[in-house]
Amino acid sequence: MSFTLARFVLLHSRVCSEAATTTKNNGGLISTLNKRKFTSTAIPRAQNKTSEELLVVVGGGAAGVYGAIRAKTLAPNLNVVVIEKGKPLSKVKISGGGRCNVTNGHCVDNKMLAENYPRGHKELRGAFFNVHGPVDTMSWFSEHGVRLKIEDDGRVFPVSNSSSTIIDCLMSESTRLGVSLQTGKAVITASPTAGGKFLLGIEKRTFSSPEYVEADYLLIASGNSKQGYSLASQLGHSIVDPVPSLFTFKIEDPRLADLSGITFPKVKATLKIENARRNIPQLTQVGPVLVTHWGFSGPAILRLSAWGACVLSRTLIVDFTPDVHIEDLKSILTQHKNRFAKQKLSNSYPSEFGLVKRFWIYILGRQVLFLFQA
Ligand SMILES: Cc1cc2nc3c(=O)[nH]c(=O)nc-3n(C[C@H](O)[C@H](O)[C@H](O)COP(=O)(O)OP(=O)(O)OC[C@H]3O[C@@H](n4cnc5c(N)ncnc54)[C@H](O)[C@@H]3O)c2cc1C
Repeated sequence: MSFTLARFVLLHSRVCSEAATTTKNNGGLISTLNKRKFTSTAIPRAQNKTSEELLVVVGGGAAGVYGAIRAKTLAPNLNVVVIEKGKPLSKVKISGGGRCNVTNGHCVDNKMLAENYPRGHKELRGAFFNVHGPVDTMSWFSEHGVRLKIEDDGRVFPVSNSSSTIIDCLMSESTRLGVSLQTGKAVITASPTAGGKFLLGIEKRTFSSPEYVEADYLLIASGNSKQGYSLASQLGHSIVDPVPSLFTFKIEDPRLADLSGITFPKVKATLKIENARRNIPQLTQVGPVLVTHWGFSGPAILRLSAWGACVLSRTLIVDFTPDVHIEDLKSILTQHKNRFAKQKLSNSYPSEFGLVKRFWIYILGRQVLFLFQA
């Protein structure tokens, strides 16, 4: 991928995308063998579950713990066991910079919200959002004693500004409902039994030989763990290769490192794809951008990474002054040149652009001088 300054223009340098290892995955895969799922439409049936019936949840992350709570709420008699190989809710702890961005408080239209997911939006719209959307999430936490606030950009956080509030709420609710949480164990195999159940191979961290458990229901909520994909495959599901999302861009331009820390409140960034068969509007994003010591970050870049994840390693076009028309920009530069003809170029630049000096010098270094050469 190459990087182009749209206005100030004009050299291409090589850029490569640096994929973060995380893939956003809020869902879980619940399986029953020829049985109905635990959705709200299945509540009357679910309430009849007996304590002899077992739901095993693979993974004690946000999806697994919340899924277990939901199942136990719908079917209080059901035996619900969460198997977690590490520490439960460990990702929630670090989420949202330690504050935990619970959901989106502005986008309450489920259909519109689903459109913001580059991949899987159809599934989210139908099966997920109609059952449990952001409003339900906010109501649930409020009803369980967590005070929430909606920030200007729509992000919802606990008033405490601490992810521990969310963790404490989920943990105490699962304990109250009688969810059994078993840590230090990993589900390593899953196969259907002749009796219509799931035979699960569970390995303890301390023992080499696995124990086997028969479960009536299985919820795979293993995040981006390959083990989880393998379990789903063993049960006959096909896996769509995951792609990284919400990552920053690494720009192969050593001079950019000198600008590390500079923020631009509003730029227009476009991922240009050669030979694209269709125009994807989301490959242009307007918003704040931050220069890091390796390239670009900030909301506009993260959104681009999500939408462009499948087509990356192309050209990134960045317009640092999206609200100034190109002709106005040229005219401002020419007027400035005429007014300050005797000043050193590196010391004098138009204030209209709201640029910092370091960035101006960088731009000069990228050979934009020709713009001045009438
Ligand atoms: C730095 C950072 C900040 C983030 N901030 C936010 C935010 O503010 N808001 C937000 O909504 N999202 C945020 N996210 C994304 C969010 O953390 C994830 O989308 C969410 O945690 C996914 O939850 P999950 O339960 O699906 O998966 P995970 O949290 O990954 O949980 C899966 C669990 O399954 C366990 N597991 C895996 N395989 C097995 C197995 N075979 N047997 C037993 N256990 C197994 C794992 O140990 C893990 O604990 C952030 C992510 C990161 C990395």
